[in-house]
Amino acid sequence: MEKTVESTKDNNEVNNSQDDTTAEEKKEMTSSDYYWNSYAHFAIHEEMLKDSVRTLSYRKAILENTHLFTGKVVLDVGCGTGILSMFAAQAGAAKVFAVDSSDIIDQAQQIIKDNKLDGVITCFKGMMEKIELPEKVDIIISEWMGYFLLYETMLPTVLDARDKWMKEGGMLFPDKANIYVAAIEDADYKNDKIDYWNNVYGFNFSCIKEIAYKEPLVDTVEGNAVATTPCKILSLDLNTITKEDLTFTTKFEIFGQRNDYVHALIAWFDITFSTCHKPVYFTTSPSSKYTHWKQTVFYLQDTLSICVGDRIHGSLSCKPNGNNPRDLDISISYAFKGKYQDIEKEHHYVLR
Ligand code: SAH
Repeated sequence: MEKTVESTKDNNEVNNSQDDTTAEEKKEMTSSDYYWNSYAHFAIHEEMLKDSVRTLSYRKAILENTHLFTGKVVLDVGCGTGILSMFAAQAGAAKVFAVDSSDIIDQAQQIIKDNKLDGVITCFKGMMEKIELPEKVDIIISEWMGYFLLYETMLPTVLDARDKWMKEGGMLFPDKANIYVAAIEDADYKNDKIDYWNNVYGFNFSCIKEIAYKEPLVDTVEGNAVATTPCKILSLDLNTITKEDLTFTTKFEIFGQRNDYVHALIAWFDITFSTCHKPVYFTTSPSSKYTHWKQTVFYLQDTLSICVGDRIHGSLSCKPNGNNPRDLDISISYAFKGKYQDIEKEHHYVLR
């Protein structure tokens, strides 16, 4: 009888015939449906919801700032299960528009109703870029971050929504992000992931090793593997950046903190909700609590013998891949002049 989700005329993505589908049919999405619409399955949302560093930071930023939310109109870009929309409603928002292109929004609609928040929150199913909202908003909340901050990022979608739907003087939650790099000792794991291909049951598989080098690993790095100082390589202020700023080249400079061997560079990011009365911050640093973003590891072809105070410097370029813009082309060039080595190299990686 009821449409589970409000659709918009302008939105081509919404398949209105879906309203005729029975609940039974809806349950029977095939594995191929999930392949094309990975956010439709609850498991991916389960992982995000259970990432307590992530979810509690959003909750803190929203619920400890009810003075900012009370009576306001809020947009949740990519609402998923609707968790952030419900925090905003709890914080006193007058209206919340929850937008998602994935079928998970059918569950969000149900969850919102089951928690008696459907008087405040309205769900819109479709691509944010194509949705027509009833009015402009005071606050945009969104969890858009990907691996290496920018992989498969929804950030361009958020910037688009900012330009189109945020009132003059509106606020973004969060609004600041930084990326950092450092170098690590990682002999055992590099051996397992890269050098393994040298000899597989007595055969030479080294052509795979070349490919393995090019793919950064998203994995958990122990804080004590970090052998250098960190360096901030990118600062994003969501209030002012444009999509073009997501293609960048930046310099870095890191220094040995102990005598050790260096096998890889790693990257992580942090996030700030700076408009809060007391800014809320979280980091995906290897020396902080686990998050589902882990860290991103870029193996170097050479092993560097680094001493305390030795400098590694270079530059990192990042741009969407020409063939598949969801992939990121990342190039790192570095120079290292140590006691025993004088190395200058450039490596090209694809995060996919
Ligand atoms: N806000 C939720 C979910 C975050 S995951 C939470 O914090 O738990 C990001 C969500 O954004 C996914 O559900 C995905 O389907 C949605 N999404 C990604 N790009 C979108 C777009 N262009 N328009 C609408 N939704 C989008």
